[in-house]
Amino acid sequence: MRYSIVTLAREALSGNRGWTPAWREPEPKAEYDIVIVGGGGHGLATAYYLAKEHGLTNVAVVEKGHIGSGNVGRNTTIIRSNYLLPANTAFYEHSLKLWEGLEQDFNFNAMVSQRGVLNLCHTDGQRDTYARRGNAMRLNGVDAELLDADGVRKIAPFLDFDSARFPIEGGLLQRRGGTVRHDAVAWGFARGADTRGVDILQNAEVTGIRVENGGAVAVETTRGVIRAKKIGLACAGNTTCVASMAGLRVPIESHVLQAFVSEGVKPLIDQVITFGAGHFYVSQSDKGGLVYGGDIDGYNSYAQRGNLYVIEDVHEAAMALWPGLGRLRMLRHWGGVMDMSADGSPIIGTTPIDGLYLNCGWCYGGFKATPASGWCFAHTLATGVPHALNAAFRLDRFATGDLLDERGAGAQHNLH
Ligand SMILES: Cc1cc2nc3c(=O)[nH]c(=O)nc-3n(C[C@H](O)[C@H](O)[C@H](O)COP(=O)(O)OP(=O)(O)OC[C@H]3O[C@@H](n4cnc5c(N)ncnc54)[C@H](O)[C@@H]3O)c2cc1C
Repeated sequence: MRYSIVTLAREALSGNRGWTPAWREPEPKAEYDIVIVGGGGHGLATAYYLAKEHGLTNVAVVEKGHIGSGNVGRNTTIIRSNYLLPANTAFYEHSLKLWEGLEQDFNFNAMVSQRGVLNLCHTDGQRDTYARRGNAMRLNGVDAELLDADGVRKIAPFLDFDSARFPIEGGLLQRRGGTVRHDAVAWGFARGADTRGVDILQNAEVTGIRVENGGAVAVETTRGVIRAKKIGLACAGNTTCVASMAGLRVPIESHVLQAFVSEGVKPLIDQVITFGAGHFYVSQSDKGGLVYGGDIDGYNSYAQRGNLYVIEDVHEAAMALWPGLGRLRMLRHWGGVMDMSADGSPIIGTTPIDGLYLNCGWCYGGFKATPASGWCFAHTLATGVPHALNAAFRLDRFATGDLLDERGAGAQHNLH
């Protein structure tokens, strides 16, 4: 069923009785060409682009819960491509370009909103760093604007400019950055993949991966054994557990990240704004709630819930930047399990096990990567070799030393 203004009008006039399910609930087949483990944003996008770009439709996405129950439905919805290192810039810019045409492409309203992402700076050194990053972005054809304090004040007059503990000196603005409705991304990719013939198998937890003669040949699931010529792992925070089923140890640590939503208020903040002197970022949803977050909890965990001290930490940073927020009540918060890589950059590529492919290491920035991640992983699965856009994201860089330390924090997972 194609969604359009005509469909909407027809259904409105006929009592909304003609809507069909957005995707099927098929029974698992005994064998597929490709099985993708993980029905999050990346797994579903991979299936979508396998079908759309490579004509491969004998594909299943195997998800242990319902689609969207992982990080794709738990994030704070920010998209941007304001990176410094060439490999990351090219990849995330490709993603932003895919976001820009995504809704027409998969015929689903994902509420892509290019409202701008503004990173604030509070010291001269930080401004120099942002100038360098902005210049790198512009040299790579990515939009970036360096603002002084007055420029920031015009955009966000409600911030504390007059008595702040960390005075705002300016900021780096990417106007093409913004937000996207996260659940709709999962639903849109699921619907688009299903329409092209991909089987989305929900409530099918992978409990084992069969390896024969050095190659992965099947997944054992709670809905039976499924054989596959190729298996792609897109399990985000559960990557280490699932990869270990094939005897593969990956350089990933799982950490909790929390998100927060305030009570709804009238339109207040147009952009996504990040604090530069602490870890806090905020935007406003279409329902009016302020959506915000901060640091990871900082200890290893597979639990999808966070701890109290980070709640305090995030709200302290919020008050330092925007004291008026103290008048609002926090409505809800939740946690997701982050797949933190040792250098903060992702892994998309082959593994030492034949037929087993890996997509992980998204830290807390993988939502913005969803379309490009799926696009590149689909290319890698279809052809057996990485695309130029994900060639640098290979697993063996941690052995060869070709790290992509975007943040300059060294090889320590929890600092990325
Ligand atoms: C609070 C929070 C805020 C964030 N904010 C942002 C942001 O603003 N911008 C941004 O770019 N990124 C953000 N992120 C990060 C982003 O959400 C993730 O990096 C990204 O969603 C990960 O990819 P995914 O969507 O495929 O993951 P997921 O949705 O987690 O998908 C993985 C799936 O694998 C499934 N799975 C796991 N084990 C098995 C198994 N054994 N068998 C079958 N299925 C299995 C899981 O159930 C899950 O559905 C945030 C994350 C969190 C938690």
